[in-house]
Amino acid sequence: MSWDPIYLWFIIPAAIILSVAALYGLKPSKKSKAESPFTEALSCLLAGDKKSAMEKLRQVVKEDTDNIDAYLLYGEILREMKQYRKAIQVHRELTIRRNVKAKYQVDIQKSLLLDYHLGGYHREALKYADSLLKMNKKDTWALTKKLSILEELEEWHEAGETAKRLQSITGKTDKTQLALYKCMEGIKIVSTGKEHDGRLRFREAMRLDKECALAYLELAASYIRDERPGDAIAIWKQFFQILPDLAYLAMDDFEKTAFDLNRFQELEEIYRGILYKDPKNTRAVVALARFLDRKGETDTAIEICQEGLEKSPESLWIRRNLFRFLTSQGRFEEAAQAGLEVLNMVIKEKEEFICSQCGHISDKPLWHCPKCKRWNTFRF
Ligand SMILES: [Zn+2]
Repeated sequence: MSWDPIYLWFIIPAAIILSVAALYGLKPSKKSKAESPFTEALSCLLAGDKKSAMEKLRQVVKEDTDNIDAYLLYGEILREMKQYRKAIQVHRELTIRRNVKAKYQVDIQKSLLLDYHLGGYHREALKYADSLLKMNKKDTWALTKKLSILEELEEWHEAGETAKRLQSITGKTDKTQLALYKCMEGIKIVSTGKEHDGRLRFREAMRLDKECALAYLELAASYIRDERPGDAIAIWKQFFQILPDLAYLAMDDFEKTAFDLNRFQELEEIYRGILYKDPKNTRAVVALARFLDRKGETDTAIEICQEGLEKSPESLWIRRNLFRFLTSQGRFEEAAQAGLEVLNMVIKEKEEFICSQCGHISDKPLWHCPKCKRWNTFRF
């Protein structure tokens, strides 16, 4: 059997119509006979006239009750029109017929899968995906559909297994995706109160993808819920090591927990560690400076901000904090300088006029845009 590329099924019925039209369309012209109703139906569809197409197809099956192509197409039009129940009815009727050629069996099942899936009957759709896979274990179309059905059903374990199979057939390994399925599985499990079982999934996700941020965050959150803050801190530390650029996602929780445990002395070391690995991490600069300020070491906080600005001069966030620290220390002249720098960054020295249509920027007021040639598009 042949399997269609996935995209073919997304542009149904256009693709089918075109190919079948080419097949059927040539015959009558040779004999210069009138077009068959089936060809007429295809022409109607190409012209976007679904109603007439359906009428023609009804005519076709009245004359030839074994014309499976016509039934399939009729059902597909119904599905296109979001009349899923009716599409299912038409396609199901084909399954109880006898003497339907084997080549149609696959098409019928595929149609039913799509009818049920798009109609929101995912459990039913799943049955057809499985039955297609029974016929051909390597049917990537069916596997892809099965995967999206399982995602709808939030059956993450099965989804992960299906993705794995798909990846092994297509040869495209994507551990990141597999790790995310594991995380989703874990999240679903912890939502039922089984924290320990969930954590095992998060650990598995980390094994699949060392850089799976979600796994670290969820694992730490689970430890917090289980009143094991020390374990949560250990996970966050690992997270900061491996993904310093994403460290900010956990900084607030980490700080709060560290303070609760009276382990705030570790914060400084950790923030410095992040900055060592990722000197342009403006969030770590601010976190470290704020911590030092809280500890009463505001002068050091100011130095940290100034050093941070050397690496990331564009950071307004560092500048704002620098301004605050300088003010609190009574270093007003420096504060004024820092404030002015912020203002210079956000406000241009000269007046600017912007075309509301194309975004053209001009330093002179204009009533006729030189770029998009429209009139009166500049707001004053
Ligand atoms: Zn313009």
